[in-house]
Amino acid sequence: MPENRVLVWNRGIAIYFVHLPPRNDLSMSEEKSLNFIEEIVEADLAAGKYQSILTRFPPEPNGYLHIGHAKSICLNFGLAKKYGGKTNLRFDDTNPSTEETEYVESIKEDVKWLGFQWADELYASNYFEQLYQFAVQLIEKGLAYVDDSNSETIAQEKGTPTQAGIENSFRSRSISENLQLFSEMRSGKYKDGEKVLRAKIDMASSNMHMRDPIIYRIKHAHHHRTGDTWCIYPMYDFAHGQSDSIENITHSICTLEFIPHRPLYDWCIEQLGIFPSKQYEFARLNMTYTVMSKRKLLQLVNEKHVEGWDDPRMSTISAMRRRGYPAESIREFCDKIGVAKRENLIDVGLLEFCVRETLNKTALRRMVVFDPLKVVITNYPDTVEMLETENNPEDPNAGTRTMPFSREIYIERDDFMEIAPKKYFRLAPGQMVRLKSAYIIKCDEVIKDADGNITELKCSYIPESKSGSDTSGINVKGTLHWVSVAQALQAEIRLYDRLFKVEDVANAEGDFKDHINPDSLQVLPIAYAEPALLSDQPNSTYQFIRKGYFVLDRDSTNEKLVFNRTVTLKDGWAKEAKKA
Ligand code: ATP
Ligand code: MG
Repeated sequence: MPENRVLVWNRGIAIYFVHLPPRNDLSMSEEKSLNFIEEIVEADLAAGKYQSILTRFPPEPNGYLHIGHAKSICLNFGLAKKYGGKTNLRFDDTNPSTEETEYVESIKEDVKWLGFQWADELYASNYFEQLYQFAVQLIEKGLAYVDDSNSETIAQEKGTPTQAGIENSFRSRSISENLQLFSEMRSGKYKDGEKVLRAKIDMASSNMHMRDPIIYRIKHAHHHRTGDTWCIYPMYDFAHGQSDSIENITHSICTLEFIPHRPLYDWCIEQLGIFPSKQYEFARLNMTYTVMSKRKLLQLVNEKHVEGWDDPRMSTISAMRRRGYPAESIREFCDKIGVAKRENLIDVGLLEFCVRETLNKTALRRMVVFDPLKVVITNYPDTVEMLETENNPEDPNAGTRTMPFSREIYIERDDFMEIAPKKYFRLAPGQMVRLKSAYIIKCDEVIKDADGNITELKCSYIPESKSGSDTSGINVKGTLHWVSVAQALQAEIRLYDRLFKVEDVANAEGDFKDHINPDSLQVLPIAYAEPALLSDQPNSTYQFIRKGYFVLDRDSTNEKLVFNRTVTLKDGWAKEAKKA
């Protein structure tokens, strides 16, 4: 095992983190220690700093949420739940050119599906007037100025981390001139990029974000909520902290890349004398074989590498839902990975492990034959017998169903071998197997076409061997799944695999799209499924016996059911890794 990996055992199954997170992040034991944010919250509550806590989840509606966002959602809503507080859903919609209502709707759906309910649904755009007034207040205090420089000049004059920036002539504009110009910016007198409003802080600060950051820019663009009311928009750093403060957010949790923004967050709040929200940072979730930036996910969609945002291979929450991941498993995963203070890369196998854990307990067992070979049971009468079988041996409350059994059934083609090796316990000439929940059969004859392809098997059954009342005294080692031919439903099976071939996609050489796995989707156009699948609830999750976990896809029609593979029964990639 490479040095930067650590093995974690969970109920006998090995899971590994690719990079070792700090010790207390491996919250695998039953008794969990507090994460560092919980420690802060408990200290704040104990000191009486707040009566109760208020967190927020602040997505920018410029794409669908991904599993990284799920981590942030579970953290923010989880904290509030644990400490009796509340969480707002706030859309950070300050960039009109990339934001859309479609994204707002999908985000709400995903948060609800994950099992969380927000206190208030809010939008940074609700505060545009208030934010404008905040900017006016800064100007009045001599703490903001209108700069006519173009973006290249502003960037140049900012200096470098080792060299102080330059204070330009616009910096000494009078308060009244600044007020006049800012008001003209708002009224639409200037074109995009002609002027900006900057905070007047310190052009020599060691923190580049404090070197007179731009707080307002001109953008003549239609906003998905405010329409054409505004042609100036606040920058993230001038909108986020103030929005937190307006809502009385106590703990504003974001990812590590915002650490250098924190002094500016605090500066704005302090200069405006408003509610002192505080920012805390944790490491964003990175996962193997996956990309997670909305920009990259959008590229995959636009360039048709996938079918859409909810293509089951995507890392979005909607894709995982469509693929059949239970929300419970995603929450469990977010809980297991803990809250880290430094970047790490989490094995996607851990998420799949959580999915299997839930589905093993909840998925209905069904029989589906993917690659059919017809079996004729020559001594079975020409009738249909309904056999009773359990829906889930792990769940006594799941009940039973009946399955038609008849003279003609399908089994998997690869469950038969004409010349079988010694320890082959499936079907072979002269050999016996049990048909799951039915009878023991014996293969008597192999039928082939003119080209020598096997087209059918003739078998005989042992009438006394019926499952549950077997008096045959025959012991067989192999049990096969099967489907009765006459009642079989046609189904299309979509077998999904990882979308990328490399573990650390973000840091792999070249363009991330060079690493797309060309075999990430395999479609089996005609599989045969037992008839119970037609009457099950549409959202049921399944274990197709011996095949994996599956879910019905929305592309299903009355003529043809379509199933997505949620996850395999075992972790096939772990085996691959061992071989390598
Ligand atoms: P992306 O880079 O994927 O577009 P983002 O950070 O721009 O993500 P936002 O919509 O701004 O996306 O994020 C909403 C919240 O989710 C923020 O608080 C952000 O810090 C958090 N978040 C985003 N990605 C992750 C991640 N991978 N792990 C944990 N939290 C994340
Ligand atoms: Mg963002």
